[in-house]
Amino acid sequence: MTQTVLIFSDNLPDDQTARLAERYQLADFSGYEDPSAAPGFGDALAGADGAIGVHMRWAAETIDQAARLKVLSSVSVGVDNYDVAALSRRGIALGHTPGVLTDTTADTAMALILSTARRVVELAEWVRAGQWTAPVGRDQFGVNVHHKRLGIVGMGRIGQAIARRAVFGFGMEVVYHNRSRKPGAEDEIGMHYVEFDELLANSDFVCAVVPGTDDTRHMFDETAFERMAPHAIFINIARGSVVDENALVAALDAGGIRAAGLDVFQDEPVGPGHALVGRNDVVALPHIGSATFETRHDMARLAVDNLIAGLQGEQMPACYNAADLDR
Ligand code: NAP
Repeated sequence: MTQTVLIFSDNLPDDQTARLAERYQLADFSGYEDPSAAPGFGDALAGADGAIGVHMRWAAETIDQAARLKVLSSVSVGVDNYDVAALSRRGIALGHTPGVLTDTTADTAMALILSTARRVVELAEWVRAGQWTAPVGRDQFGVNVHHKRLGIVGMGRIGQAIARRAVFGFGMEVVYHNRSRKPGAEDEIGMHYVEFDELLANSDFVCAVVPGTDDTRHMFDETAFERMAPHAIFINIARGSVVDENALVAALDAGGIRAAGLDVFQDEPVGPGHALVGRNDVVALPHIGSATFETRHDMARLAVDNLIAGLQGEQMPACYNAADLDR
């Protein structure tokens, strides 16, 4: 019998959807902002052998309704939208897309570092508004990026890619904090490990690159921002949940830190009424870390590879919960 695959997001390019259509019956909910609220979604969920997409929350109740599901393939590296324990209990393999988005996301982090330090967005808007009527002066000056100290929290694939760019491209000094030490990367990149509090207190830029988990929730809270220097710039390329946004607003208002560059927010999307949007000391991006044509295509292809391998009972190229399923 032909297996059924549920598509729950818009992010699949046509050639990757075609690979699925050749093999499976498709229940395609890609046109919906919230597929789970679409007519017929419940039946499709109940009948799906596999599912692929991103941006939909899969809580335990949703997973319970997916009675036949064997493989869930996320077009993302972060898996914070999924109840991984519930998936593993049911023996459902969770695919994700590590590696293929590493460099693109690291590029976005550098864009945030540069644009906050040099006030790129604010001053481009200033020109557009016709305010460039004389040579710039102190009111428009930014601060240097090169040769400053960057503290990276989360030294995984993306953290290391940011560190390489910072050290080899901008002559920055990199310190890092991570759950485990990375001696190989320390030697290769020339960076050193410090405790979290020391990183906060002694970095010119603090960049969050940890996954959004229960452990990292509000890792950057009032205390963390108080430890940072008044000239420090905070960058979040990870997940909105790692930051207490009220504490960040308070730190910026009080001059406790200089600026923030944010690709991610607690509740996305955010609009102009959000307290961190519309202020000159914040560069707010719409979660574009991996959003290039090339990288989104590579992510979709890996997610489809994961799904096909999983549904064929083969080892997936990138299975997030493989260790749990082997037990
Ligand atoms: P990764 O290779 O798994 O790296 C994550 C790192 O965080 C690991 O080194 C891990 O430590 C560390 N870590 C986990 N929990 C920690 C904690 N409580 N304290 C300190 N360090 C901790 O993942 P990645 O590919 O670099 O991606 C990292 C995250 O970036 C993803 O999970 C995702 O949420 C986010 N991301 C965002 C975008 C975007 O569009 N903005 C794009 C891609 C990814 P160990 O080495 O000890 O395991």
